[in-house]
Amino acid sequence: MVKRIKVGMASCGIAAGAGEVKEKMIEMNPDAEIVEVGCIGHCHAEPLVEIETEDGSYFYQEVEPEEEFINKMLNLEDYSRFESPANREKKEKLYVTELAGKINPISIEEYEENDGYSALKKALEMEPAQIVDEVKTSGLRGRGGGGFPTGLKWSFLADKDEKDKVLICNADEGDPGAFMDRSTMESIPHQLLEGMLIGAYATGANRMFIYCRAEYPLAVKNLNIAIKQLEEAGYNNLNGEDVKITVKEGAGAFVCGEETALIHSLEGKRGTPRFRPPYPTDYGYKGRPSMINNVETLANIPLIIRDGGEKYSQIGTENSTGTKLFALAGDLEYSGLVEVPMGITIGEVVYDIGGAEEGSVKAVQIGGPSGGCIPEEHFDTPIDYDSLTELGAIMGSGGLIVINKGRCMVETARYFLEFTTKESCGKCTFCRIGTKRMLETLERITGGEGSHEDVQLLSDLGDKIIKGSLCGLGQTAPKPVLSTLNFFKNEYMAHVDEGY
Ligand code: SF4
Repeated sequence: MVKRIKVGMASCGIAAGAGEVKEKMIEMNPDAEIVEVGCIGHCHAEPLVEIETEDGSYFYQEVEPEEEFINKMLNLEDYSRFESPANREKKEKLYVTELAGKINPISIEEYEENDGYSALKKALEMEPAQIVDEVKTSGLRGRGGGGFPTGLKWSFLADKDEKDKVLICNADEGDPGAFMDRSTMESIPHQLLEGMLIGAYATGANRMFIYCRAEYPLAVKNLNIAIKQLEEAGYNNLNGEDVKITVKEGAGAFVCGEETALIHSLEGKRGTPRFRPPYPTDYGYKGRPSMINNVETLANIPLIIRDGGEKYSQIGTENSTGTKLFALAGDLEYSGLVEVPMGITIGEVVYDIGGAEEGSVKAVQIGGPSGGCIPEEHFDTPIDYDSLTELGAIMGSGGLIVINKGRCMVETARYFLEFTTKESCGKCTFCRIGTKRMLETLERITGGEGSHEDVQLLSDLGDKIIKGSLCGLGQTAPKPVLSTLNFFKNEYMAHVDEGY
């Protein structure tokens, strides 16, 4: 007997037609309990519907808003039944995203029924310094790209004596192919907010912002509903004072993911980076000490408090603890959001989880436009901050694009460089003009008019832009070119020598 029907209504589900599926089911079963849930990560199979019965749950994939299809589904027929790929089940570790796609994102009651806000209650019984220590013990490193130890960052803010301190969640996810933060905010907004509240209590922050891109309307909507709910429940009352959380929508500039540019934008100024020091924890939003953490980093916090830093640190590797979310896209069978323990190899993610065909893959682009391409022969590399950096890539925020053997790596590098060139804020010469000259050079090469000198020029310019740029955008913009030059120089030479 059907108890409840869950429809995946994150952006991936909606894009695939989940809204029409839900409407049709309501029309056919006006008395049934039909609820919206977030994304379970299998974006490739959307629209996904879960039928809850007294005997367990049944999942259906690629559901169509047709009477015949829906009747078969409600009769629990085998038709279009969804099974998670067996290898993916074995390799994934759903920890941060354990509740994603399983609960109604905008039901605080469902979140509470699943242990939600119990970590905050536990934290409020601890001393703030104990919480900072717990986060340090966990070994959690920033998931936004840099990998800075989170507990240490928290201690910088906690050590400030100022009365007014600010905690900012960086939700300005701008990398092409990345959607980890969007999915988290759409599916488990309360978990992120609980992490922020714990962070505010631990560091003494009395003002919070979420800087989210305006292109994520569902995330913004769910966050605002969740904030209202937690305020009504009184969870924002920390030490007798109500702490305000505001969602601020960014205008789509990639550079606003950089901490100082983000703060400028939040203050209503043009979003351009500035020199550091002073660091935001010394001089941040409106001159107040401010700490910026990424969405995934903060969504880890309730789990660290719930399970303890020591237990958390046993997941992953010694220097890269916990799990990592990846947005899997490109030439593979199962695109979507995956969560894996740190230390898993690139090959396991690409083949076992992503279902890419063995022998078909040439490389992965990891870390978005600031990252690098890693060729197939290095797919036994473990995914951790240090191993990826050694290969000239970076963990980045978690975009992972699979590139098959039919694609040109020079063209791939050109695509990413074109993106960063357009997104340069123009403040410093190396980035503003250097990336343009690199792009022109690359276009000469991909247009069949390049020379050997051009290939050398790319390398020289890339090194200079990295050294001479003010912020992370310029300092990493040449990486896709330099990493493909390192591993796929033959493709550059082929363009030059054969003139195509
Ligand atoms: Fe702007 Fe580029 Fe300089 Fe960063 S490196 S401040 S994006 S011009």
